[in-house]
Amino acid sequence: MAAQTAPNTVSTATATDATSATSPATSSVDLGSAVALSCRECGERTPLGPVFACAACFGPLEVAYELPAGDPEALRKTIEAGPDSIWRYAPLLPVPADVADKPNLNPGFTRLVKADRLAAELGVTGELYVKDDSGNPTHSFKDRVVAIAVEAARAFGFTTLSCSSTGNLAGAVGAAAAPAGFRSCVFIPHDLEQGKVVMAAVYGGELVGIEGTYDDVNRFCSELIGDPIGEGWGFTNVNLRPYYAEGSKTLAYEICEQLGWRIPDQIVIPVASGSQLTKIDKGLKELIDLGLVEDRPYRIFAAQAEGCSPVSAAYKAGHDVVRPVKPDTIVKSLAIGNPADGPYVLDIARRTGGAVEDVTDEQVVDGIKLLARTEGIFAETAGGVTVGVAKKLLDAGVLDPALTTVVINTGDGLKTLDAVAPTTGPSAVIRPSLDAFREAGLAH
Ligand SMILES: *Cc1c(COP(=O)(O)O)cnc(C)c1O
Repeated sequence: MAAQTAPNTVSTATATDATSATSPATSSVDLGSAVALSCRECGERTPLGPVFACAACFGPLEVAYELPAGDPEALRKTIEAGPDSIWRYAPLLPVPADVADKPNLNPGFTRLVKADRLAAELGVTGELYVKDDSGNPTHSFKDRVVAIAVEAARAFGFTTLSCSSTGNLAGAVGAAAAPAGFRSCVFIPHDLEQGKVVMAAVYGGELVGIEGTYDDVNRFCSELIGDPIGEGWGFTNVNLRPYYAEGSKTLAYEICEQLGWRIPDQIVIPVASGSQLTKIDKGLKELIDLGLVEDRPYRIFAAQAEGCSPVSAAYKAGHDVVRPVKPDTIVKSLAIGNPADGPYVLDIARRTGGAVEDVTDEQVVDGIKLLARTEGIFAETAGGVTVGVAKKLLDAGVLDPALTTVVINTGDGLKTLDAVAPTTGPSAVIRPSLDAFREAGLAH
């Protein structure tokens, strides 16, 4: 089903030179309003294709569009009449116009929860919201980015979907590959949480545990792309990365639409590679440029776990470069020691008047429990990071409690039960009698 064009002609170019500006499939590629790839460093343009680095300067490539010009009110109406998924924003994404009719998981349009009880607990006097992306088909935000990568993989004629993953991405790729008719083969560090390993395997694709860190997995995948073995393989976050990354813009679009087409004052975003954060910023700018929201200042706050906080460390030291670290944290979904978009995260936090902060594993667990007991949302460890960082920044007077703030929860707590299991359990285990219940001290 995926191989609409001969896969081998496309992938040979991919496999031999990841920075290649030419791809046999590019002339016939229909990815909607996407017209080219452009270098984020030097601005050089490259035809749409499965490439991720600029041939001129090796800078990272991103998707360039000819976005619909004209009446913002008409565009707003079109979006509002669209499906309850990321496909309502199809005109702003690198996907064909009929994308919603193709077999896929239809992710997105998750809840934006007005978190009044959490606000009271944190001393927030303005509006506080949690964007709860645990409601996606595989229970993490990764379904958004993978859905876009699948469309690129179809367009370029790939037959196998792959990725290097800290866990959630592997599950999202496995699940998306199934209905779309791709073979999948995904790579993870061998020591991930059981929930993530099982979810990555259950959809029937190949799952390979690598003895090493995520950064080792990523290096291995780069080698695989350069080898004949990798012919016909679309790696969502490597050779399809420019397309994949665009999926994160939908978080920005949804937050603004759900707020009544309004940009929040402050957004707290988790950082692994930093891709999501940079594309939320890109999405906000696009909404402003299209006249869909009022042009007003917003501040972006980046959140990391202390045990893997290379971006936070660089921010605090006033550096522009991010020094790689070896991760040691329970927050495995954010455990990328050498984040590709780290310098861009620093730039956005500084430019918007935001900040980069980190929290300890203990504060992560506290954050998970705080969100659960105030709002009934069970977040994975990455959600504990954003809630924990929001609390820390409010306590420090860095986040303004009087403004409208959105905290993003990117995944489901059922995937990281180990984080809270040691400190969470039954209040008592008793015989089935009223006396025993009274004795347990719970009869009030
Ligand atoms: C992948 C992931 C992120 C963000 O990753 P980036 O690489 O920074 O885009 C955030 N939270 C969870 C749960 C994830 O799986």
